[in-house]
This record gives sequence, C-alpha cells and structure tokens, in this order.
Amino acid sequence: MRKKMVVGNWKMYTNTATARALAAAVVKGLGDETRVTVGVCPPAPYLLSVAEVLRGSLVALGAQNCYFEKEGAFTGEVSPTMLTDVGCRYVILGHSERRHKLGESDAFINRKVHAALAAGLHVILCLGETLAERQANQTEAVLDTQLQGSFAGLDAQALPRIVLAYEPVWAIGTGQNATPEQAQAAHAFLRGRIAERFGQPAAQSLLIQYGGSVKPDNAATLMHQPDVDGGLIGGASLNADQFLAIVRAALPHG
Ligand code: PEP
Repeated sequence: MRKKMVVGNWKMYTNTATARALAAAVVKGLGDETRVTVGVCPPAPYLLSVAEVLRGSLVALGAQNCYFEKEGAFTGEVSPTMLTDVGCRYVILGHSERRHKLGESDAFINRKVHAALAAGLHVILCLGETLAERQANQTEAVLDTQLQGSFAGLDAQALPRIVLAYEPVWAIGTGQNATPEQAQAAHAFLRGRIAERFGQPAAQSLLIQYGGSVKPDNAATLMHQPDVDGGLIGGASLNADQFLAIVRAALPHG
C-alpha cells in the first residue's frame, strides 16, 4: 500500500505574516494524522520563517525550485544545499509554469534532479501535456519524452526519493481538472514506463501525485484512483480549510 502524499504549492503568493499563519493553520489542522504525508512549498524568501512554524510538526517543508550548482556566481539562484540548510525535505522541479513560462527543458530539469538528489532532497518531478498535445493524441508521447529526459542517468536507487506529479497543463489554475479516468490513465501509463525501465517493485513503490485544479469537492474521486497517490495542490493550498479538506479526502477509506 502506498501512503498518499498531499503537497501545497503556494507559487508566488503570501507574505511573511500570511505564510506563517497558513503554515500554522495546516499544522494545527493536521494534528497527529500520519496516514497521509503532507508538505507545503512556500516562496523561497519565506522558507526559513515557515520552517520555524513547522518545526516539530508532521508537515514537511518543500521548495518550488532550485538550481543545479552547489554555489558560485549564479545571481538570483538557490542551490539544493541551501534548501536542505533551511530545513527543506522536498523540492518541486519541472513545474509546467517553469517549463512553459521560463523555458526550462528536460535536459535542464534533469541536471537539477541530479543535484537535488545529491544534496539529499526528495524531488517532486512534474510533467504533463498541453491541451493541444492532448487533442493531438500526443499525451503519452509527451509524458514519455518528459519522463525519459528528466530521468536521464538515474538508476533505481534514486526512485525512493522521487515523487512524480502528473499535472496536465490545461488543468493547472484553470478550474478544469482532469477527470478521474483521465488522471488514472496517465498515471497508469507513467507507472508502466517506470516498470519497464526500473522494474515492477520500484514502479509499485513510486508515488504519483495528480495536480491540476484539485478542490475539496473533486478531490476524493481523484485521490482514490488506483494509481493516484495524492495531489500537488496550487490554488486550494492557499486556504488552510480547503487544503485540509483535500488532505482528508486522501485518507484511506474505512
Ligand atoms: C500547481 O501549481 O501545481 C497546481 C496544480 O495548481 P492548481 O491546483 O491551482 O491547478
């Protein structure tokens, strides 16, 4: 049984006060619930402050991005070791907003994946097709290219520290989520490709989150598809009540 994981991507929202308040509300609402892994990914300037709020709780800290160098003359960049230094366990890489708005390629993301893993971080690797690609029946080909490109040079030992997030671009921030069937099909495809490359045991242990307009009212059906292992939540993670309702929707039935 894979334990589901729900992570909030706060994107470029919040300020020091609202980030701390949001983190505190998530900590309080989660309490001692251990049946779901929960994390939040604030903007980089608030990581340290949010880390203080999360200390001693079951809510993990993640970052939304990093660079692939350890240190150096890379103005404006943040290294994976800086993230571990401030208490991050996770880093989101390959988010579609970085792929499509900032032009990140699979090769570039792959360098970050290697650097993040080497620094001891867990990677939440995002992939997903655009609407045009889906309409052209290219979804699986696009996912495969992104998967193989972002995973270049990785071996099976890396997999326990990688979480995939299937995030169809057309569903992110649009209010139009993938249907549970569409999500399940994409997740099953990704798990199958992982099995071909790394073997069944590695594929069966891998967490694959769904992301794209997950809200309290659509979360339960999405979260309980057989190959959906939780969610990467954008907009709804900025509201503690909504985020916690999604976490509850991911709890095991019964
Ligand atoms: C995201 O930012 O990863 C995301 C899924 O956003 P939203 O939930 O707002 O669609």
